[in-house]
Amino acid sequence: MDMEDFEKQRKILVETLVAEGVLFDEYARKAMLKVPRELFVPGHQKHLAYIDEPLPIGYGQTISAPSMVAIMTSHLKTRPGHKALEIGTGSGYQSALLAAIVGDEGHIYTIERIPELAEMAKENLEKIGYSSRVTVIVSDGTLGCKEKAPYDRIIVTAASPDIPKPLVEQLKPNGILVIPVGDRYLQRLLIVEKDEKGRTRIRKDTWCAFVPLIGKYGWTL
Ligand code: SAM
Repeated sequence: MDMEDFEKQRKILVETLVAEGVLFDEYARKAMLKVPRELFVPGHQKHLAYIDEPLPIGYGQTISAPSMVAIMTSHLKTRPGHKALEIGTGSGYQSALLAAIVGDEGHIYTIERIPELAEMAKENLEKIGYSSRVTVIVSDGTLGCKEKAPYDRIIVTAASPDIPKPLVEQLKPNGILVIPVGDRYLQRLLIVEKDEKGRTRIRKDTWCAFVPLIGKYGWTL
């Protein structure tokens, strides 16, 4: 498959996600049209890059299904200039989408607990020219990253038993946190909105099934 085929498939997938109502934020739509998902999918699976399925990326982890990425990115409402934190770098695809939105004025910090995946994500982000917009950190993301806090947006792309307290603390007033919360096998996507006075409101969205968030405020291995 060549670049042109991938581009055509990307366009069809994005149109389908919009028609299905899961890609409902214009910035998220443009980012999904722009970022080549095939570059974040391991070699032997590249031909599957534009089917709506999660795909294995090694170390027992996955790159999430495009529809799930679309829902989460739409709810996050990231905007140019934002500083955002992602927990669960994986392939780096979600970071790349956020980097495409925030532009050169914004920045993405992304935390991964598996060093080999962090390395792979760095290489992927380098390939699409986003290294200067994204900082990949190897650490326990359930603690957030206090040094760079507070954040306009926080996204957790692994399943948590609860909302990690440090993440709520590190969210700016008027910030949004998107996180799957539930048991190890089935979760509900939560949208946590902090108002200008620091009060939080939690909305529940779709059911989902993510790999577990392992760490102090997540699950034990
Ligand atoms: N966002 C990724 C992408 O675009 O490819 C997919 C993320 S994958 C579903 C979940 C990732 O969360 C895995 O790579 C896993 O190693 C990571 N993870 C799990 N617990 C973590 C923690 N406490 N801190 C940081 N990363 C964690």
